[in-house]
Amino acid sequence: MIPSTLTTVSPGETRAAGELIAEALEPGDVVLLVGELGAGKTTFVQGVASGLGVTDDVTSPTFTLCQVYEGRLTVLHADLWRLERLQEVVDLALDEGLEEGGVLLAEWGEGAVELYGDDALIVTIELGETETDRVLRLEAHGARWERRVETA
Ligand code: ADP
Ligand code: MG
Repeated sequence: MIPSTLTTVSPGETRAAGELIAEALEPGDVVLLVGELGAGKTTFVQGVASGLGVTDDVTSPTFTLCQVYEGRLTVLHADLWRLERLQEVVDLALDEGLEEGGVLLAEWGEGAVELYGDDALIVTIELGETETDRVLRLEAHGARWERRVETA
């Protein structure tokens, strides 16, 4: 089971948290990442990608909006920052990748709750007490996530 809270004290630990989630990922899964700039969203996705066997460097898709990586599952790494209308998210055609068995990891995922929030893992990363402390809250939405995540 995926724990409902994880605390990390270094970027490496946040990557390890991503690797843990990667083990549980199934084709078509959506993970929405919420947290301020510098919270560790990209760091977490690096761990997920590495856990899925992606060997490419994973960087922030701020300008490309969506980057695709091939691993055990295809990783769609999206950045929804500055997308102001839901239609702009729809236009990224993420659904096609999901239907083909990919998994979506969306930074600034609050912008896609309306689209995917009924069937998604929402990971909220908060800053902790020191500069390198982070608290990750993992929230299951919908049946396919509820069976995989501990209730808080
Ligand atoms: P985001 O994508 O949310 O803007 P990044 O993953 O790009 O955040 O950056 C997180 C920054 O915080 C990096 O510079 C990283 O080195 C630093 N950091 C310090 N402690 C942690 C931690 N525990 N987890 C993740 N990142 C951390
Ligand atoms: Mg980022």
